[in-house]
Order: sequence, then C-alpha cells, then structure tokens
Amino acid sequence: MKIEFYGATKEVTGSKFILSTNGTKILVECGLFQGRRKEAEKKNREFLFDIKDIDYMLLSHAHIDHSGNIPNLVKNGFLKDIYTTPATIDLLKYLLLDSAYIHERDAEYINKKIIKRGETPIEPLYTSEDAKHALNLFKPKIYENKHERGIKFEFLDAGHILGSSEILMEVENKRMLFTGDLGRSNLPIIRDPKIPGKVDILIMESTYGDRLHRDIENAKSDLEEILKRALSRKGKVIIPSFALERAQEVIYAINSLIINGKIPEIPIYVDSPLTVELTSVFMKHPEYFDKEAYIMLQENHIFNYGQINYITDVRDSKALNAKEGPMIIISASGMCEHGRILHHLKNNIEDERNIILIVGYQAKNTLGRKLVEKQEEVNIFGQPYQRKAEVVVLNEFSAHADRNDLISFAEKLSPEQIFLVHGEEEQMEPLGETLKEMGYKVAMPEVPGTEYEI
Ligand SMILES: [Zn+2]
Ligand SMILES: [Zn+2]
Repeated sequence: MKIEFYGATKEVTGSKFILSTNGTKILVECGLFQGRRKEAEKKNREFLFDIKDIDYMLLSHAHIDHSGNIPNLVKNGFLKDIYTTPATIDLLKYLLLDSAYIHERDAEYINKKIIKRGETPIEPLYTSEDAKHALNLFKPKIYENKHERGIKFEFLDAGHILGSSEILMEVENKRMLFTGDLGRSNLPIIRDPKIPGKVDILIMESTYGDRLHRDIENAKSDLEEILKRALSRKGKVIIPSFALERAQEVIYAINSLIINGKIPEIPIYVDSPLTVELTSVFMKHPEYFDKEAYIMLQENHIFNYGQINYITDVRDSKALNAKEGPMIIISASGMCEHGRILHHLKNNIEDERNIILIVGYQAKNTLGRKLVEKQEEVNIFGQPYQRKAEVVVLNEFSAHADRNDLISFAEKLSPEQIFLVHGEEEQMEPLGETLKEMGYKVAMPEVPGTEYEI
C-alpha cells in the first residue's frame, strides 16, 4: 500500500491524504488550508493529485480544516461517494454553506478593487451551488459498523466534536488507524474517545503534542465562580465562541450549574445564526451524547432550559444592548475578528461590572488575543475602547487530546509505525522525539505530496 500526505503536514490545517492499495485509491479528508491569505488561497485552489483517480472518500469530522475544501473538489469534477457519520453530514449542511458564503463574499470584496484596476475578476474558491452538489455525495455510516470497499473500514467515536470519528481501516491484512482529531475524556455532551486495540499503523494528530490541559472539572467550578461574580454585580458575561461544539458545551455547562442548583437562573442569549443552527443539530442527535448529557436532554431539555434565547434577527441582537444585566451573551466569531460579538464587546467592554469570558483558542494578532493579553485599550471597528470589563480565560474546554493523552493513546495501540500529522512543528517534534525514545518508529511528513510505501 501507499500513503500520500497532501495536507496537515507539520501544520494544523488542510488535512488530506490518499491511501492506495490494489487498484483502489481513497481520499481521506479534504480540509481547507487556513492562515496567511494568499498562501492558503493558492494551496486551496491547486490539488496536487489527480482527482479523477480517486474511487471514494472518507471523512472523520465536520471541522472545516478537514472538510472545507470538499466543495472545491466537487467543482473540479469529483462525483464519488463520501462516507462519514450522520451527525457530520447534518453539521456540514450548515457549515459548508456558511463557508461557501464566506468565499463568495471574499471574492466580491477583492473583485471591487481588481475591477477598479481594470483586471480580470477572480472566482470564489467555491459557491453555495458547489457546496450543495457536494452535500449530495455524502453517504451516512454509523459508528462501529464494518464496511468493505477495496479495504475494510469503520468509524469509531473520536470524542472530539459531535459525530467525530477515528477511522479504522484494514488494508492488506494490516490494521491502520487514522485518529482524525482526537478528543479527551470528560468533555461535556460527547463520549470519550474509543480505544481500538492493537494496530499496525497509526496516523495521529499532534495539535497539542507539547502541551498539557487542566482537567475539565476545573472549568466547571471556575465557571460557577465567574457567573456568581457577574450575578452579584449585575454584570453581563460576554462569551465569544466558535459556533460548533464550544458554544453547545458552554450552554450545557451553564445550564447544568442552574439545574444542579449551583447558581440561580440567569438569562442566556445565543446571538449567532450559525450557532443557533448547529445547536439544532445537537438536539436532533442525542444518540451521540454521553449518559449524563442524554438524560439532561431528555429530562431537562438542556438546550432549551430556563431563560435561554436563540437570536437570529439583527434587530433582536441590537435590542440586547438596551437590556439590563445580569445576563450571558454567547456570540461569534470565536476569535472576535468579525460578526456580532464585535458589537457586544464594543457596547460592554468599558463597564467594570461586565466579564469577557474567553473559552477558545485565540490566534496571534486577533482581537481575542489582545483581550487574553489583558491590554488596557483595544480597537473595535477602528475606534479605541478602554477595557474596564474583567477578562477571564477558561482553557479547559479544549476539544483536543493533550500530550499525555496522545502518548497514552499510542501506547494502548502499540503500532509498528506512527505518522504524525495535524500539528505545528513546535508541538509535533517534541511528541515525535518522545515516541521515538519509547521505541516507536515515527515519521513526520513535512512536504505536501510526501509518500510512503508500506
Ligand atoms: Zn477538529
Ligand atoms: Zn482539525
């Protein structure tokens, strides 16, 4: 067999590899490269392999860095089956259209300048039409059902986000596992990652190959303290959050505190159309929940509990400004770069009663990062604002395995060969070195197109 790596090679985005065996070619993942705009754009537009040779595709989960270039693949002639879990398909119905909309809007914005210069306008990477075509190719496969098509494969729960999977394959009598993105134990809502037993080949993500997370239990008690503080001073808690998984976990954690009598009821406003849509997918798929969350959904309607309000209309979003605290506003984008969160930050950052609660990763140079750094003055819509609101960072919600989780996962599978993917060099290398010291054979493909004959 041959494995070719075309993305997530010493980086975290653009996941994509091809497995070839006995005349069958399988594309696993087709993620979007993100990062520096021009560079990412070029990598997304050019496929470094022949699309027409692919027989079918396997997809681990709905995150855009794994799925976001599928509509472009389809635009370029791919019309084969794409196997993934039912929840992943339901999430992608919203995520791929949202992604298409962003590409259309980006192209429009760039074209305004291009046309002024008298040059030929660019096409969006893909359109909503391409995304809709792509969605027609998806074929649902539930966890732990075995399938055969050139190879044997099955999806196992990866415990990372709703519907996320590890993909277990049997190729030429070798067991091979691709972790997709690997979750961690005790995350709210979803179950813990599955351990598939001994494998021969392990393709493992390494996002946090050199970092340790605090236990998720700390997040619950910290959250309780934060909300009590906000309640006592009638403040607003502004939570920038990614629309998928993080927002639902935060809603779940807050409502659990209320249901368990730890804090009194407090109005929650979920102000992001995409978050509202994705939360409806969660409500539709309780079969993916862990036991506790399943009961919370059936008995307490956890996503509709108490004074929760889902806002899509812009007028309702603006009306929040006139309302008195205490209240919680969950909005997007997660890194405070665009979207309605900017309005909420602008309106609330200068009031010391308020709390800005950061629950997700904030990349360099984003407004979110400036808040994490507790800068005294920040610019929002080009205007300076004095940060008087308290900023609190809760990192425990991370949906990725940390260094210890990854090492113990590899140990339980005791593979003959490990390939590390989906990690920046400074995270991947130390993990790779440790695994080598433990006696494993480790490869870290670096250049897109690198291939291995096994
Ligand atoms: Zn992911
Ligand atoms: Zn990922």
